[in-house]
Amino acid sequence: MTATPALCRHCGRRPATRSRGLCWWCYYQPGVRDLYPSTSPFGRRSFGNVNRSAPLPASPTIAPPGSSEKVRVLMERARSGCSLWHPRDAVFCPGV
Ligand SMILES: [Zn+2]
Repeated sequence: MTATPALCRHCGRRPATRSRGLCWWCYYQPGVRDLYPSTSPFGRRSFGNVNRSAPLPASPTIAPPGSSEKVRVLMERARSGCSLWHPRDAVFCPGV
């Protein structure tokens, strides 16, 4: 016995076989996907970590990854609406 998939959230006619509760046809229609947020628990939707391009932070940080200082920097970046990561942030250096 197989479960019947839910119907598409957009057209309501075809089985929702794609993510976001959409059918294959609607999923690949331009613009339709944007109308329905991801239903995945792994979707990156939390504050300051959304799936969009955000401006880079004004400056990189020398705080080492995992440090409380780095966490504070990340919180401040999230609060100001910029990207959490700067390409020139300090990286983990074992033994330093
Ligand atoms: Zn559909």
